[in-house]
Amino acid sequence: MLGQMMTAPLLISSLIDHAARYHGDTPIVSVNTTGGVETTSWAEVSANARRLGSALSAMGLAPQARCATIAWNNRRHLEIYFGTSGAGFVCHTINPRLFPEQLVYIINHADDQVLFLDATFLPIAINLADKLPNLKHVVLMGPRDEAAAEKLPGLQFYDELIAGGDPDFEWPVFDENTASSLCYTSGTTGNPKGVLYSHRSTVLHTLVAGLKDTLAISAADVVLPVVPMFHVNAWGVPYCAAMVGASMVMPGPGLDGESLVRLIDTYKVTIALGVPTIWLGLLGHAKSAGSNLESLQRTVVGGSACPPSMITAFRELYGVDTIHAWGMSEMSPLGSVNQLLAKHAALPDAERHALRENQGRPPFGVELKIVGENGETLPSDGQTQGDLHVRGHWVLDSYFRMDDNQVLVDGWFDTGDVATIDADGFMTIKDRSKDIIKSGGEWISSVELENIAIAHPALADAAVVGVKHPKWDERPILVAVPAEGQTPSKEELLAFFDGKIAKWQVPDTVVFAEVLPRNATGKVLKRNLRETYDSVLME
Ligand code: AMP
Repeated sequence: MLGQMMTAPLLISSLIDHAARYHGDTPIVSVNTTGGVETTSWAEVSANARRLGSALSAMGLAPQARCATIAWNNRRHLEIYFGTSGAGFVCHTINPRLFPEQLVYIINHADDQVLFLDATFLPIAINLADKLPNLKHVVLMGPRDEAAAEKLPGLQFYDELIAGGDPDFEWPVFDENTASSLCYTSGTTGNPKGVLYSHRSTVLHTLVAGLKDTLAISAADVVLPVVPMFHVNAWGVPYCAAMVGASMVMPGPGLDGESLVRLIDTYKVTIALGVPTIWLGLLGHAKSAGSNLESLQRTVVGGSACPPSMITAFRELYGVDTIHAWGMSEMSPLGSVNQLLAKHAALPDAERHALRENQGRPPFGVELKIVGENGETLPSDGQTQGDLHVRGHWVLDSYFRMDDNQVLVDGWFDTGDVATIDADGFMTIKDRSKDIIKSGGEWISSVELENIAIAHPALADAAVVGVKHPKWDERPILVAVPAEGQTPSKEELLAFFDGKIAKWQVPDTVVFAEVLPRNATGKVLKRNLRETYDSVLME
């Protein structure tokens, strides 16, 4: 033997161990379900996670038993993240805004044994209890509550459960490829599909997510994950914050602009992460409340395309740097992040700002390529667009418990997105492949049109979809949501596209709506819009 290095499996428990040992007194602020705020620390989160791990083990659950959560971003949820996975169980986060039949499908398909709930979501458990035959324990995330106990026989209480647990419980050591967590994709057709993450994929994702060229999270940060903990593990932020010992502010149920501005200003948040719609609310409120978001240095925006006008508003009004990122449930989620290269430092401001608008470059651990109709790899020239395929250390290999499970093409995962990639690896998402508009043989990117429309000062929100056209098969229309007190005309909105894109790409008409239909992770439900407006150009 020539000699070698130590090896230890990459386990999620090592992240919380590190946080407790070296950042034990770092504060974790948590807004609870009724709006009260409590401050805990990494040491306490760690001790409670161990208590929970020991209590779950005492229940006699099998290794990798699924423990589900339907909960807000709060400190108990954080303890459950580490307590379940750390003890060898699978943390299955569920989106509370799914339809009841989807919730039943997911809980039964995952074979969840335990369900942790915030009080807000107790009615879900009460209404669905008789449809969930395998569920053994329902745990309300709080102290004993007699009124709740009466409503659901057998209901357990988190605070009681962990009070009986051991704060010195030793995390078991097992193979790093063991499953750690589970999320179902919010697919718009068919049943939701489960993505099962492993300890190894999660720890590798965590190591890379915090890097300076990625999300740049450090012990000096106060991190506000507005992205829900049920949306791809809150983009990995809880793990990353533990790894670097960052302070966290868990926002609970209040995700409106006013609550977020208050949290940022009160707790001196330095970095906040969320989907574009959330930031529309925040920017609107910060302006009217007269806050200058003094402490905020960075926002990470992803989940849907971040409009360039939002990046500009953050930069020019508040001096906040927006990091545009792209990813998906199947990628844990990080796929690409927009940070500049050394050679860009000398560019004029306007050019550097323009470069920051796309979805960025893959970090180590992820490879991207674009593919043509016959599976051929297309050039990375910044112009040619194709289907975006990915592979890497935290990319899905097959879905959880599915029959037809051949999801890879030559070892790559087809994301369902259409993109361009330039010579430096900067990627621009043009559309979901099912949303791209095919007009007389030419493709029009709905994302590009939306980015222009949303910058119109009289609009609060905007979406572009392709609808039937007698001559061109499909043409784009703009679905416009006027800002409060504004009544923009169709002509004025269409004129706003002049000079910004080719004339043939300008939408054919504008329809007005009070609000856009969105799913719980902030994505516009374009299929609904197409169904509603499909015949507007045929009349
Ligand atoms: P989900 O698995 O629910 O997180 O959805 C993943 C999908 O969201 C991706 O395949 C993209 O279509 C979309 N998406 C995520 N981030 C971005 C982004 N920055 N720009 C455009 N689309 C995005």
